[in-house]
Amino acid sequence: MIRNPIPWPNGARMAAAITFDVDADSLIHVARPTDGFDRLAPISMGRYGPTVAVPRILDAYRRLGLRQTFFMPAWCMETYPETVEAILEAGCEIGHHSYLHENPASHSDAEQGYWFDRATEVHVRMTGRKPRGYRAPVYNVTQGVLDRLIADGFLYDSSLMADDIPYAMRTAAGEILELPVHWGSDDWPPFAHYEEIGYLMPVRAPSDGLRGFFEEFDAQYEAGGFWIGVFHPFLTGRLARWRAMERWLEGVLARGDVWFAPLEDIAAHVAAVRGAGTPVREERLPYYARPPHLG
Ligand SMILES: [Zn+2]
Repeated sequence: MIRNPIPWPNGARMAAAITFDVDADSLIHVARPTDGFDRLAPISMGRYGPTVAVPRILDAYRRLGLRQTFFMPAWCMETYPETVEAILEAGCEIGHHSYLHENPASHSDAEQGYWFDRATEVHVRMTGRKPRGYRAPVYNVTQGVLDRLIADGFLYDSSLMADDIPYAMRTAAGEILELPVHWGSDDWPPFAHYEEIGYLMPVRAPSDGLRGFFEEFDAQYEAGGFWIGVFHPFLTGRLARWRAMERWLEGVLARGDVWFAPLEDIAAHVAAVRGAGTPVREERLPYYARPPHLG
């Protein structure tokens, strides 16, 4: 059960979103800054995302009448401009996902701010507007990042895991909605095999890997909650996995009571019902001002 359920629009039982992080080959360049540019195997694995998988995914969305959210490092947007055009053409959202998939927690605040703003400028130039939402590379949000999102007027973050349904993150700077994620609905553990960045996972069969996501979805459906799939085009956009996803989508859409929407629409809805009096749980920062075990 969920203690503080959110009423979804048009009598929908739950809200759901498939989000694709279009990281492409940014991962190898940021992990191997000096020689990644000549490692063709991981580059090719990444390039499959924007060039082969995203058009396939958008075809399915068009056929099924879906608009969804993509998160894209700005360097990937500049490197694959046709992919950006195709996503926008399909009416989908592109959220902020760093510049080159740099990890916010491994940069100083000033460095993080530089790359963050540089990425925002790319969004404005290529999409005509500032992004409404953010997802941190490897979910590595810091309070400095949240404060920057709040100062910049972002509507939501989608990197944290403290609830089943949307909640609010409050800091001294203000607050932002959190559309929570979880590793149980992330395709990295079952499908990523990427030696250069330290992942040597046993790759699961499509039906095995996807089954975990579907079970997470079913529990949220039963509870009237909220489900986000966190996927990567070069993993779940591969032929066999996306074929299985498409069939699953056909089934859940046929139920007629699941609201699939871009995250910005879901966040706007949560903000509206909250404004009308529906309680939304708050988490307050800082959790800790210093390492708690050092007194
Ligand atoms: Zn990513």
